[in-house]
Amino acid sequence: MAKVAETPMMVQYHEIKSQYPDAFVFYRLGDFYELFEDDAVLGAKLLELTLTARNKNSENPVPMAGIPHHAAQNYIDILVDQGHKVAIVEQMEDPATAKGMVKRDVVQLITPGTKLNSGMGNDKQNNYLAAVLPRDNRYFLSYIDLSTGELKATTLKRFSDVIDELSSLEVKEIVLLKDDETTELGIANKLAERGLVISTQSEVNVNATVSFLTQPLVHENEAQVTTILLNYIFDTQRRNLDHIIPAQNYERLAYLKFNQDTRTNLDLVKNARTKKKAGSLLGLIDETKTAMGGRLLKQWLLRPLRDTEDINERLDMIEAFQNEFFVRGALQDHLKSVYDLERLAARAAMGTMNARELVQLKRSLSAIPGMKSVLSSSQGILNRASQRLEDMSDLAGLIDEAIVDDPPISIREGDIINDGFDSKIDEYRNVLSQNQQWLAQLESDERVATGINSLKVKYNKNFGFFIEVSRANVSKLEEGRYERKQTLTNAERFVTPELKEHERLINEAQLKRTEREYELFITIRERVKANISRLQKLARQVAQLDVLASLADVADNHRFVRPTFTDDNIINIKQGRHPVVEAILEAGEFVANDVNLDQNTAMQLITGPNMAGKSTYMRELALIVILGQMGSFVPAESAVLPIFDQIFTRIGANDDMAMGQSTFMVEMAEANLALQEATAHSLILFDELGRGTATYDGMALAQAIIEYLDAHVHAKTLFSTHYHELTALADKHENIKNVHVGAVEDESGELHFLHQIQQGPADKSYGIHVAALAGLPDELIANATTILSGLENQETIVPEPKAPGLSEQVALFNVSDVDPKTETLFQKLDSINISTMTPLEALNVLAELQKLR
Ligand code: ADP
Repeated sequence: MAKVAETPMMVQYHEIKSQYPDAFVFYRLGDFYELFEDDAVLGAKLLELTLTARNKNSENPVPMAGIPHHAAQNYIDILVDQGHKVAIVEQMEDPATAKGMVKRDVVQLITPGTKLNSGMGNDKQNNYLAAVLPRDNRYFLSYIDLSTGELKATTLKRFSDVIDELSSLEVKEIVLLKDDETTELGIANKLAERGLVISTQSEVNVNATVSFLTQPLVHENEAQVTTILLNYIFDTQRRNLDHIIPAQNYERLAYLKFNQDTRTNLDLVKNARTKKKAGSLLGLIDETKTAMGGRLLKQWLLRPLRDTEDINERLDMIEAFQNEFFVRGALQDHLKSVYDLERLAARAAMGTMNARELVQLKRSLSAIPGMKSVLSSSQGILNRASQRLEDMSDLAGLIDEAIVDDPPISIREGDIINDGFDSKIDEYRNVLSQNQQWLAQLESDERVATGINSLKVKYNKNFGFFIEVSRANVSKLEEGRYERKQTLTNAERFVTPELKEHERLINEAQLKRTEREYELFITIRERVKANISRLQKLARQVAQLDVLASLADVADNHRFVRPTFTDDNIINIKQGRHPVVEAILEAGEFVANDVNLDQNTAMQLITGPNMAGKSTYMRELALIVILGQMGSFVPAESAVLPIFDQIFTRIGANDDMAMGQSTFMVEMAEANLALQEATAHSLILFDELGRGTATYDGMALAQAIIEYLDAHVHAKTLFSTHYHELTALADKHENIKNVHVGAVEDESGELHFLHQIQQGPADKSYGIHVAALAGLPDELIANATTILSGLENQETIVPEPKAPGLSEQVALFNVSDVDPKTETLFQKLDSINISTMTPLEALNVLAELQKLR
C-alpha cells in the first residue's frame, strides 16, 4: 500500500510531539484541544472521552479525542494527578488572518511537580519538585515549590538520605541530568520504582537569572543541581517566574533527623492506618488560620531544630501568646481574613492572577494594620514582632481604589475597574449608558409611533439590536423606514439606520472600555509584581505568627507545658502523655507517666504484658522530643530534655514489609541503621526487637544488640521486650534500668492494665490473659493455661547469662529435647524394677542397653 502523504497539520503535530514524547500533547484546534494517535487512545480511556478519528474514511484514519478548551483544566488535573505530563499547544497567531498553516507552539508543560493549584482555597500542602545530582560520592539535592517560590539546596551523604528527604517533602517528580554518573548509579530506576515521575535535562545552562538565583549557594555542586532544576522549570513553564526566591542552602545536620519509617511509626503528619491527617500529630496541633501557616507548621514538625536558642525563641513567643490571651484571639481574627499571600505573590509574578485574586490580596493586606496594632498593644516580643510586620497599605490602597469589590473571574470582559479611577473608562461608560438609555426609550417610542403594543427591541449575537414585530402587525409599519433583517414563523425582525448607529456606538465604547480595563488591570498586576519580595517577606512573618499563635492554642487546649533544654544528658518528664492517644480516649482515661533517664541511664528495658502501653510510652517520649525541638510546648506537667540529634525507631509493621521484604530482615536493617548511625545524643526506640525470628535466635540477638548499644553507642534508648530473661542484664550493666508497665490480676484471674510505668522488671508475661481479653474460645484458653503450667513445671536448664556469652545463650536446652535413642534408653530404664531383679537379669539388661549404642 502506498504511503499516504500526511496533511500539513499532522506534520506540524508530529514535529511538536517528537519534542515531548513522554507528555500528552493538547493540540489547540479552534475551541478544542485535540489528542491524536496514542495520546488519543490512552487519553480517551483515562478521561472517558469519545474516541473518534480524523479522516475517518481515508486509508489512514488518525485516532482523535477532543476536549473543549474551557473545560481543559479538569482533564489536565486528572492526568497530572495520575503522574502524567501534559504539553499545552496553542495557536500562536489568529487563524482568521494567518496565511497558510496556523503557527502553533507549546506554551506550557504541566507535570506533577510543576502543577499549580488552580483553586484559591485554603491549601496547606506544598507541592515540591526536586533535582538530584550525584558527584564525588555525595548527592546534591535541590527543591522548589513553584507556587510559593521557595528554593532550597543541600548536600547528602547517601542515597538513602535522598530517599528520606524526597519522601519527607512528598516530592512527586524529580529532575535528573542525563550524564554518565547518574546513569551508572541507576538513579532513575531506583526513583521510578518508588513511584516518582522522572524528568531529564540533557545539559546545564547558566544564564543571568540562573546565576542570580543560585548565587547564595557556596557549594559548586549545590549550585549545579539547582541550575538543573531551574533549567527544567524555565524550559517547561515559559512564563515569568520573578517570584522565585534565591536559593538557600540548608544543612540536614542543623535539624533533628529521623527517617520515613519513624515519621510513619509515630503518625507524625498522617495516621499510618487511615493515611489521613486526622489522627496524626499534625492533625492534633494544627490550629493555624492561614494556608501559609499550615504549610509552615508542617515544615517545622518535619524539621525540628537543634539550636537551643532558636528553639527558645519560638517558645518565648508561644509563652507570650499564652499570657496575652486576648491579643492572640484578636490576631487570629485578623488572620482569618488573610488569603494565601505566598501563592498570590507567585500568581502575580507568573501573570496568572485575576482580579478576584487582587481583591483577595487587598483584603489580606488590609488585615495587616489591625494585626500590627493588636500586637503593639502588648509589651516585649509581641511588640517587636509587630514592628517587623510591614504595613503594605500603599498596595492595598491602590487595589482598593482601582478594582471593584466583586469582580468577575474573566479579566478580558471588563467590570473590573472602579468608577472614577480612570477618566477614559468613565467616558466610555458614559457613552454606553447614554446609548443604552436611548435603546430603552426606543421601545416605548416605537410602540407609540406604530401603535403596536407587542413591539420589542431585542438583542442577539448574530444580528445585534433589532425591532421585533409579530407577523400580524407587520402591515402597521411605515413603508421604507424599517429594513427587514430576518423572517421567523410568527415574527419579522427589522433594523433602522438610527438603531444601527447606536449599536455601533455601543460596540465601540464596549470594546474600548474592556481594552482599557484590561490594560489598567495589567498595570496594577505589574505593580503587585514589583512588590513581590516585600509580599513574600510579609507572608513568611504572617505564617510564623499564625503557627506560634496556633501552638499557643494547642498548649492551652491540651495542657502542654514549656520544656527546658539542658546539656546535662537528662530526660526528666513528669506526667508525660501521648497527645494523640489521649485525644481519642475519654477525658481522664489516659494515664500519664514519668519518663526518667538520668545521666547514668542510657537505656530502659521495658517489660509488661501486651497491650499494657509499652509502645505508647515509647512513642510518647519521641513525640515530646519532636514537639519540644520544633519549638512547641509538650504534653506533660514538666519536661527537662537534652537536645537530640537523631531519632531511630523500630516499632510495629511498616510499608517495606508489604513490598516483600521479610519482617525480620526489615527489623534487622532498621536496627542496623541505628547501631551504625546513632550517637550519644540520639534517641532510639526499639519495640520488641527480635520478635521476628525463633525465640532463642531473637533473644540472643536482642541481648547482643543491647550490649552493643551499651558498649559503643550510649544513645538514650527505650527497649521493650517480652523476653523476661533480658531483664537480668540490668544487674550487670549499670546504665541499663528495668521498668515495666503494671497490670493487676483480680481474684477471678482477670487482668487489669494500669498503663502505669513502674520501676523494676515485670514478673509475668500475661500473654494468655491478653488472648482471653481478645475473646479467644474458653476451651482454648483453658488448654493454653494447662500447657503453660506444664511448661513452667518442666525442669529447664538456663545457664546464668555471662556477657557477652552469646554461645551459651543459644545453647539453652530442655531435657525433653533428646534424641530418639536416648529416648528408648530412658524408656527401657523406666520399665525395669530393680528391687525384683536377680543379678543375672540385671547383667542381661545392661548388655541389652549396651547394644542400643
Ligand atoms: P503494648 O505496646 O504494651 O502492646 P500499646 O502501647 O500498644 O501496648 O497500648 C495498647 C492500648 O492501650 C493503646 O491503644 C491504648 O488504647 C491503651 N493505652 C496505652 N497506654 C495508655 C495510657 N498511658 N493510658 C491509657 N491508655 C493507654
